[in-house]
Amino acid sequence: MWQAEIRVDLDAIRENVSRLCAGTQAAVMAVVKADGYGHGMVPAARAALAGGASWLGVATLDEALALRRAGITAPTLAWLLAPGLDLHLGVSADIDLSVASVGQLREMTAAADAAQRPARVHLKIDTGLTRGGATAEDWPGLVEAAAKAQADGSVEIVGIWSHFVYADAPGHETIDRQLAAFHDALGVAERLGVRPPLRHIANSAATLTRPDAHFDLVRPGIAVYGLTPIPGEQFGLRRAMTARARVMLAKRVPAGTGVSYGHAYTTTRETTVAVVPVGYADGVPRHASNVGPVRVNGTTFTIAGRVCMDQVVLDVGDLPVSAGDVATLFGSGDDGGPTADDWAEAIGTINYEIVTRFGSARVPRAYDGGTGE
Ligand SMILES: *Cc1c(COP(=O)(O)O)cnc(C)c1O
Repeated sequence: MWQAEIRVDLDAIRENVSRLCAGTQAAVMAVVKADGYGHGMVPAARAALAGGASWLGVATLDEALALRRAGITAPTLAWLLAPGLDLHLGVSADIDLSVASVGQLREMTAAADAAQRPARVHLKIDTGLTRGGATAEDWPGLVEAAAKAQADGSVEIVGIWSHFVYADAPGHETIDRQLAAFHDALGVAERLGVRPPLRHIANSAATLTRPDAHFDLVRPGIAVYGLTPIPGEQFGLRRAMTARARVMLAKRVPAGTGVSYGHAYTTTRETTVAVVPVGYADGVPRHASNVGPVRVNGTTFTIAGRVCMDQVVLDVGDLPVSAGDVATLFGSGDDGGPTADDWAEAIGTINYEIVTRFGSARVPRAYDGGTGE
C-alpha cells in the first residue's frame, strides 16, 4: 500500500523515444540527467534504449558512472565537469566527456594517461548561449590543442557540439544565428583537420521542430518523458509521470473556516476539506499554494491555502470524497486530469521543473511497463 507515489510509465518513455527516432535520420541520445528528469535514471535509460536511443546523455560524471554500475554499456556523454574530478574513472568506464577549454583538455589527457587509453572527447563550441563551450575566439586554439592530443594518442575527438538558447520558441532569431555559428565552428575545425563523426546541437525542441539542426545526433530530454518543450503543442508524446497520494482525512467544516498555515484560504460555505499527504518536501512547489490543481474522483480542485512541508488541503465542497480516495496532482492528462504542464502554468515555471522536483527519497517510485530495474 502506498500513501504517496510517483508512477512512471516506462512504455510511454519507450514509445516517445521510438517516435523521436522515427522523426530523424540522426542517432538519438536520450538525456537522462537529474535522475531521468525525476523519473528514475536507470529505468528511464533502459526504456529509452529499448525505444531505439543509441546514446545516453547526462550532466555529471557521477551520473554516467551510475549508469555503468547499473550495467548499462550504451555510449554515454557527460558534459558538466568541474576541475579536479577523477576523470580517469570516466575514461576507464568508456564515458565520452565534453571539453570546452584547453585547461579541461589537459585534464582529459592526464586522465587518459592514468587510464592508459585515449579519452573520448566532444569539443563544445558556445554558439550564443553563453554558458558552457569555447567562444569563437578561443575555438581554433582548443581545436588545435585537441588535434595535437589526438595525434599523440591521448584523446579521440568523437564530436563537436553546442546547445540552443531558445529552440523552444520556434522561429526565434537566435536559432538561425546559432546554426550559422555552429557551421562556422565546424568549418574552422575542418580547416584544422578535425572532422569528427558526431556533430550535435538539437535538444527536444529542435529535434521536434528543426530537422536542419539534427546533424548526426539529437539530444532530446524532456520529450523522452512525454512532456512538451513548447507549451501548447504535445507532438503526440505521452506523459510518463503520475504523482498521486491518498486522501488521509476528509471532514466537514463550517463557512468561514481558515485553512492551513496563515489561513491563506477561508471556506465560503459549509464544505468538506480533504487532507492530502504530500508537501514541499516531496516536490510540491510551495508556490502552488491556492493555485495547484489536484484531481480526486474525476473532479479537479485547487489547493486550498498554503502548501505545507508534508501536506496540502483541498476544499472539495459537497462532493463525495473520503479518506483513502486517490488524489492525482498530475499525470498523463488522458482522463482530463491535471498535467505537469498545468502545474507549470499555475505557478509560472516550466514542466521540466515540476517533474524533476518529484525525486525525493520519501515518495516511492513505482514503474509500469518496461522492467523497472
Ligand atoms: C538538458 C540538456 C538537453 C536536453 O534538453 P531538453 O530541452 O530537455 O530536450 C540537451 N543537451 C544539453 C546540453 C542539456 O543540458
